Amino acid sequence: MNNRKIETFLAHDGKKAHSKGAVVPPIYQNSLFTMKDWDDIDKAFDDRTNSYIYSRGNNPSAEIVEGKLAAICGGESAKLFASGMGAVSAVMLSCIQKGSHVVTLKNIYGPANNLLESYFKPKFDVEITYISGTDIQEFEDAIQPNTSLIYLESPSSVILSLQDLEAVAKLAKANNITTAIDNTWASPIYQKPLKFGIDLEIHSCSKYIGGHSDVVAGLVVGAKADMQSLFTKEFELFGAKIAPFEAWLLLRSLRTLKIRMDQHQKSGLTVAEFLEKHPKIAKVNFPGLKSFPQYELAKQQMSGTTGLMSFQLKTTNLNEIKTFFNGLELFQIGVSWGGHESLIYAPAISYLKELNPEQFEGLGISLGDMRISVGLESSEDLIKDLEQSLNKI
Ligand SMILES: *Cc1c(COP(=O)(O)O)cnc(C)c1O
Repeated sequence: MNNRKIETFLAHDGKKAHSKGAVVPPIYQNSLFTMKDWDDIDKAFDDRTNSYIYSRGNNPSAEIVEGKLAAICGGESAKLFASGMGAVSAVMLSCIQKGSHVVTLKNIYGPANNLLESYFKPKFDVEITYISGTDIQEFEDAIQPNTSLIYLESPSSVILSLQDLEAVAKLAKANNITTAIDNTWASPIYQKPLKFGIDLEIHSCSKYIGGHSDVVAGLVVGAKADMQSLFTKEFELFGAKIAPFEAWLLLRSLRTLKIRMDQHQKSGLTVAEFLEKHPKIAKVNFPGLKSFPQYELAKQQMSGTTGLMSFQLKTTNLNEIKTFFNGLELFQIGVSWGGHESLIYAPAISYLKELNPEQFEGLGISLGDMRISVGLESSEDLIKDLEQSLNKI
């Protein structure tokens, strides 16, 4: 990154970096690349991870974004995927063998959990141990001789609990186990897991990296050797590659990533502090609050917090919960998060469809839990909106 600040690196590609001096690179909307002669194509195949042959492998529109993302994550190499789940499944496929054991968290992203439970487990006889992940002892106790992957998500979904990344990476290395983390919540701006020794970093670029709610994409970043193996196997063979236009949109998004994140951080904290003091709210889960049980660890391993949080209404009356949920005017109702627009979702809606009541309770989530994504609107307006809807119950 040339010792420049991250926002400079993201805003700038270098003077006359693109053909004809275009300040924005063109979209390379092509499926294949033609070669000069026999030797030229022969050479390209010998170095297929670094060559332009066919757009299921490399494409310049993706490559410029992959280069920037690898650099800001502090990784050697990165690959963009068609979705976050494309990235998650590629990592799991690369790290799990038949009969492997996986250690992961009770609160990982629902579809990642579903992939492990309903696909890897029955199809490849994979064993899975779920832990809360808040104590390193739990990881030590969970490890078995056949453990091949420790799959992390810090902060985790909905309750936003953290894992001590440095301690987990150290333990895994000593036991020859690969570590992967879903780092979507913190974004590459506020958490750099590779620096703590984590092997593979995953993002859903559909959230903060994209930031405009117009792209579905995923990312894996890691060391060159790991990424080369991932490229020739899970990436090229399973084919979940990003489209050139989506990659081009992500480059547009990267220009403002740092300043968007700083705004999400500022507004997120203001909204969390408002919610925490409100008499109709029982609890706020947000690593930026001093009351958060892992506040010290959050400060140690993240350089900032974002705009996604959850909170619990005091009422347990479903009609009142729905009145609050439906009564918001600025916060729109929807899944996903990390875009310019503020959103609300009640995790109970999807979890209750997938889990029985005991499993649901075991996650530490209740009917009155709300998840909000604080967007780029004025935090004053957002707080007024929350206040007016809370006043209805
Ligand atoms: C959305 C999300 C994913 C999946 O990403 P998609 O782009 O929707 O496939 C993975 N992990 C987390 C934490 C997410 O929020």
